[in-house]
Amino acid sequence: MTASAFSPAPAVSAAREAELLATVPTGLLIAGRWRDASDGGTFNVHDPATGAMLATLASATSEDAVAALDAADAVQASWARTAPRRRSEILRRAFDLVTERTEDFALLMTLEMGKPLAEARGEVKYGAEFLRWFSEEAVRDYGRYLPAPEGTNRILVQHKPVGPCLLITPWNFPLAMATRKVAPAVAAGCTMVLKPAKLTPLTAQLFAQTMLDAGLPAGVLNVVPSSSASGISGPLLGDARLRKISFTGSTLVGKRLMAEATQNVLRTSMELGGNAPFIVFEDADIDKAVEGAMAAKMRNMGEACTAANRFLVHEAVAQEFTRKFAHAMGALTTGRGTEPATQVGPLIDSDARADVHQLVTAAIDAGAVAITGGTPVDGPGYFYPPTVLGNVPNDAAILREEIFGPVAPVTTFSSEEDAIRLANNSEYGLASYLYSRDLNRLLRVAEQIEFGMVGFNAGVISNAAAPFGGVKHSGLGREGGAEGLAEYTTTQYIGITDPYSA
Ligand code: NAD
Repeated sequence: MTASAFSPAPAVSAAREAELLATVPTGLLIAGRWRDASDGGTFNVHDPATGAMLATLASATSEDAVAALDAADAVQASWARTAPRRRSEILRRAFDLVTERTEDFALLMTLEMGKPLAEARGEVKYGAEFLRWFSEEAVRDYGRYLPAPEGTNRILVQHKPVGPCLLITPWNFPLAMATRKVAPAVAAGCTMVLKPAKLTPLTAQLFAQTMLDAGLPAGVLNVVPSSSASGISGPLLGDARLRKISFTGSTLVGKRLMAEATQNVLRTSMELGGNAPFIVFEDADIDKAVEGAMAAKMRNMGEACTAANRFLVHEAVAQEFTRKFAHAMGALTTGRGTEPATQVGPLIDSDARADVHQLVTAAIDAGAVAITGGTPVDGPGYFYPPTVLGNVPNDAAILREEIFGPVAPVTTFSSEEDAIRLANNSEYGLASYLYSRDLNRLLRVAEQIEFGMVGFNAGVISNAAAPFGGVKHSGLGREGGAEGLAEYTTTQYIGITDPYSA
């Protein structure tokens, strides 16, 4: 009997994969039409679980990027005047269509990004919620009318769409990172040029087609996948017609784009890196903390800006927490995301895997101990085993840098003040997680830690209705919630003379 006879039957047939891939538009979307790149250039997209090629897409040039902005600019004024109710109903139809197409979106994400199908379905649900949430917000963007303090003149304040936007998304959440930007831009009345990550552009392509199917007018959303990211952003950031950039990705690239955005004084939204602390106090429910740790660490194989990166555990419970956490991590099944048994997929590419392993090796050299995992898996695909490191020295690089992989470094603290100091000892300030049974303590610590988001006894906190975003080097602005719409509007004040004076 061959080894393959023991493998579980694939949940998804090769024919189903091929059939789905054949439905994904492979061109650039400009002014409502899918077309080739101006120079005929293309790039390939691969499956990180096998290395196999999935699709070949048109690769937009700088000229194509400008053509996309031409298209966005041409319809900006009419789109801004479109009734909010109409924009709302397009978003609601898009929510229904994405939801109906859950299996297609989920499989596509699993193929191009590697996450297990169950997680990909979760992302479809989460990503679609931004369409529903902003369909509801589109008709509730209130201004105000008030008397000036002296009681004569009147003040009218209204919100207007900021104008054409450049949206740049990362590879790790191919659908949700796109809907989180596109939905509020549509709700506010902005037109867009979307540049998805070159490693995972297929989901954004299918999503753009779905927006057209939902009735989005030509030119409102233009999509320019490209193998040259700066070839797209460079000319657009230098073009006075662009009014905003919304970027999700690494802090390094975000800082560069912020610098470039100053030339035209652009509105900027920056969703950048994170280094989330996961703090377990001595009075926490340890089993619940382990459950939360698994979610906060292993969602997306650890390839999430919200991923718990530093496990800070009170010394009185560190042994019990680490033992139970390592047991749960060691029991996970790694494999291609289309396999029914898979709980952990591959990392996105070989560089990502090498970076993760380098951080693990350096931590072990500095005195950390691998309680489970720590040895890269051979073979095709970029798999890395779920890993728990104990005794991690407080100055180890793995506690400073974003790990972006299934590796959990555990370190200890001895007092609440100590925990707060360690948590704040990072240039990042995105997500944080606190476990304790004492609500006063949770609130006290939340007030003192410098993070845009705090979870109380919860391993997953993202929600379309909540303002997602960070402080310090984790970025500027918020996505989701009422704040998410405000990112795409500008405020206009109209001064009115005393209506009784005439
Ligand atoms: P990345 O910065 O390498 O790429 C992000 C996007 O920027 C991609 O579309 C890429 O093509 C583009 N890009 C890269 N270089 C560019 C350049 N010079 N000019 C213009 N565009 C450029 O990040 P990534 O590896 O795709 O994503 C992982 C990072 O994203 C992590 O740091 C993660 O924390 C962060 N992230 C943040 C959030 C958040 O909401 N804060 C969410 C998801 C991911």
